[in-house]
Amino acid sequence: MTSHNFQTLRGSVIAESRANTWAAAVEEWEVIGLEEDPTATGMCVCGNTGLRYLYTIRNSMTGQELSPIGSVCVEYFEVVELTESVSALRRLFDLRAAFIDRRTVTLTTDYFSRALLADLWEHGAFPDNDYNRGNGERDYQFLLDWFNSRSEPNTKERQKIWVLINKTIKPFVLADQRLS
Ligand SMILES: [Zn+2]
Repeated sequence: MTSHNFQTLRGSVIAESRANTWAAAVEEWEVIGLEEDPTATGMCVCGNTGLRYLYTIRNSMTGQELSPIGSVCVEYFEVVELTESVSALRRLFDLRAAFIDRRTVTLTTDYFSRALLADLWEHGAFPDNDYNRGNGERDYQFLLDWFNSRSEPNTKERQKIWVLINKTIKPFVLADQRLS
C-alpha cells in the first residue's frame, strides 16, 4: 500500500499559497468539493495513487485550487475546519447516494451526523419560509433536537421530520454544487 507523501503535498500547498511557511499556508485553505472515482484510480496531489474519494481544496487568498486530494492529505493540514469539512462532505455524498437510490432516509446516524446537519445549515439548506415563520434556523434546530433526542416524535412531529428531509434537504443535496 502506498502512502501519502507529506513533502510533496507541502511543496504544492506552499506554491499555491500566499504564505510561505506550512504553518501559515494551511490556514488559507477550504474544502470546496468531492467526487468519487469508482475505479479508484485517482492520483492525489502528493503523488499517492488509488484515490476513490477526490476532494478539491481552494486557497481563499489566491483563488488557486488543488485537486484531487485525498482525505489523508487534507488531515495533514491539522486544521479542525478542514477535517470537519472532509467528513461532512463524505456524509453528504452518502446521503445524496441514498436519495438517488430512493432509499427511505431517516433522521438517524445511518444518514446524518451533527456535523452534517450543521454543514447543511451553514450552506443554506434551510431557507426561511412561512412554515418556519421566516426563520430557517428553526427547522435546523428542530431536526438537531430530534436527532439528539431519545424520545419518540408524535405523528405531527414525525410528519414534519419527513417533510424537512424529503422536501427541504433532498432537493438541496441533489443540487449541491460541491458534489459532482
Ligand atoms: Zn495525498
